[in-house]
Amino acid sequence: MGIIKKRFDAVVVGSGAGGSAAAWRLSSQGLRVLVLEAGPKFDPNRDYKLDQPDWERHMFPDLPGSRGLFTIDTLDPLDPKEQELRSWGRASGIRVRGPRREPNGPAYWHVQGIGGSTLHFAGESHRMHPKAMQLQSKYGAGHDWPVTYADLEPYYTTCEQLVGVAGPANQGARWRSKPYPLPPHPLSTPAQRLVAAGKELGMNWQANSRAALSKPYDGRPACNYCANCTRGCPLGDKGSADVTYIPKGLSSGQVTLKSKCPVVRIFPESNGRIKAINYLENGQLQLVETPILIMAAGVVQTPRLLLTNKHLSHPDGLANSSGQVGRNLMETLFWSSTGFLPGLNNSHMGLPTDAICWDFNAPDSIPDTVGGCRFISAAQEIGFTGPIAYAARAIGGFGHKLKQAVRDSFGSAISVSAIGEFIPNDGTFVDLDPQETDGFGIPLPRLHSHLEPGEIKRLRFMARKSRRLLQEAGVEHLVEEYGAWDFFSTTHTFGTCRMGEDPTTSVIDANCRSHDHPNLYITDASIFPSSGGGESPSLTIQALATRAADVIAGGKPLRPSVPS
Ligand SMILES: Cc1cc2nc3c(=O)[nH]c(=O)nc-3n(C[C@H](O)[C@H](O)[C@H](O)COP(=O)(O)OP(=O)(O)OC[C@H]3O[C@@H](n4cnc5c(N)ncnc54)[C@H](O)[C@@H]3O)c2cc1C
Ligand code: SF4
Repeated sequence: MGIIKKRFDAVVVGSGAGGSAAAWRLSSQGLRVLVLEAGPKFDPNRDYKLDQPDWERHMFPDLPGSRGLFTIDTLDPLDPKEQELRSWGRASGIRVRGPRREPNGPAYWHVQGIGGSTLHFAGESHRMHPKAMQLQSKYGAGHDWPVTYADLEPYYTTCEQLVGVAGPANQGARWRSKPYPLPPHPLSTPAQRLVAAGKELGMNWQANSRAALSKPYDGRPACNYCANCTRGCPLGDKGSADVTYIPKGLSSGQVTLKSKCPVVRIFPESNGRIKAINYLENGQLQLVETPILIMAAGVVQTPRLLLTNKHLSHPDGLANSSGQVGRNLMETLFWSSTGFLPGLNNSHMGLPTDAICWDFNAPDSIPDTVGGCRFISAAQEIGFTGPIAYAARAIGGFGHKLKQAVRDSFGSAISVSAIGEFIPNDGTFVDLDPQETDGFGIPLPRLHSHLEPGEIKRLRFMARKSRRLLQEAGVEHLVEEYGAWDFFSTTHTFGTCRMGEDPTTSVIDANCRSHDHPNLYITDASIFPSSGGGESPSLTIQALATRAADVIAGGKPLRPSVPS
C-alpha cells in the first residue's frame, strides 16, 4: 500500500456539484485540498458527439468507470385502476407491460467523472422555495431543514455569480439580494406557445433560470441553442462543475485533483475523529491522512461508503448512530406529455427547459396533498431534437409513410413536463445488497422505491394540468406520455444522509457536519431533508457545500440575508 506523504487540510470524496463547490471554496480561503474522483475526466472535444453525423444515436458518452454500480429491489405492483398515469407512446404503445413499476433506463444514472452528474444535467439553476424548507412545522409532513432560505441566500448569490446563471428578475417567493449575473435566455418556439396558453388559463410562465450563458461570461462563450445539454455541452457555456468550480479551484494552486481514484475505506479513531482514508489508484491501494473529510459521492455512493465502513467502534457504519444513513431517499416524481402542434416550427432548437411555471410550487398549492410541483417547456429536454426520436417514439410505422410523417411533423413537438415533491417514506431507501459486490468484494448499494397515495395524487395533478396546457396551446392528439407511476427514476434525487438538528433522527447538522464525527462533513444531494416542489437541486447543493466550506475554513458562515 502506498502512503501519501503530502499533507492536505481536507480530502473531498467526489467532484460533482457538492464536492467541486466545497473544494473551490476551501481553496479560495487558502486550504490545501485533495479531491478524489472515482470516474474519469471527459474531454468535450473528443467524447461529446454533437458534431458527428450520428449524434442522435449517442446519449452522454460512457467511458470506463463512468457508471456506478447498484442494484434495485422489486418495485411496487401497478394498480390496474390507474390507467390515466400509464406511460405510452404512439410508436411504442404501452411502455411498461408487466405488473410492476420498472426502472426508467438505468434508473440511477449519474455520471461518474470530473464534474459528476452536472456533466449531463440540463442546467436548470433553482433556489428552494422558502416554505418547502419548513414542511413539517408548517404542513405536518416530511421534515424541516435546519437552515433557512435566508441562511442560504448569500451562498445562492455567490454560486450564481461563479457559474454565470441567466434568469429573470421576478422570482416570486424566492427573494434575492442581487440580480442574476446574466439576462434570461430568449424563449424557443414551443416555450412561447406555452407562455401564451398559460396566460389563457391564468398560469404565469416565465423564462427559467439556467446555468447556461446568455452572453459570454468569465472567458466562456454564450449558448448556441443546440438543444442537447444532457448529451454533454461541447461549447462549455453550460455551467457544469468541470468548467466552473473545478478550474477555479485548480487555478488557485491549492487543489490536487485525481480522477479514477475511488475511495474505498475510511478509518475513524476511537474518539470518533476520522483519521485517514484508502483510495485506489491504478489498482494500488493508497493511504492518506486528513484533518477533514468531506463526503460528496452522491445520494447512492455516499451512504454506501458510510455503511460499508463498519468498525468495532461503529458497527452500523460511519455517521450512523441515528440509523438514518440510507433512509429518506427521495426519487423523481415526474410527468411528461407531448403532442404535435401544426404550424409550429423549430421546436428541436433552443435551450432545453427554457420556460417554467412556478404557480403550484409552494407546498400548499395542490389540492388535498402537501407538496408542490413545477411545469416546464420540455420538447428539447426530453429529446425531441432529432428525427430518430420522432420516428421511434411518436410516429411509428415504416417506409414512405413514416418518412413523410417525419418530414411533416419535424420541429412541431411541444411538451410539458412536471416534477413534484416526493415526501420520504419507509419503503424508499438505499441499503447494501446482501449478495452483490463490486470487483473488490465491497457490497453494492441497493435502491428501494415505493409510491405513497400522496405521490399518486400529485402525479395525477401534474398529468392533468400538462394535458390541459397542451390542449389550450392547440394540440389535438397527444403522441407520448410518461411518468413516475410506472417508471422509477432518479434524475433529481435527494436524501439518504439527511441534515437536521436532532442527532437521533438525522445524520449531519446545519453546517453539514456529522453528528458522530467532528471532522466528517457531507456536501452532496444526500443531505436534503425534503425534495422541494420540483426545484432542481444543483444550485442548492452548491450553496450548502460552499456554506459548509466557510464553516470549515473560518468557523462560521456568511451572515444570513434579509429580504429586500
Ligand atoms: C439527466 C439529468 C439531468 C439533470 N438536470 C438537472 C438540472 O437541470 N438542474 C439541476 O440542478 N440538477 C439536475 N440534475 C441533477 C443534478 O445533476 C444532481 O442532483 C447533482 O449534480 C448531484 O450532485 P452531487 O454532488 O450530489 O453528486 P454527483 O454530481 O453525482 O457527484 C458525485 C461524484 O462522486 C463520485 N464518486 C462516487 N463514489 C465515489 C468514491 N467512492 N470515491 C470517489 N468519488 C466517488 C462520482 O463519480 C461523482 O462524480 C440532473 C440529473 C440528471 C441525471
Ligand atoms: S443548448 Fe447551450 S448549454 Fe445546452 S449543450 Fe447546447 S450550447 Fe451547451
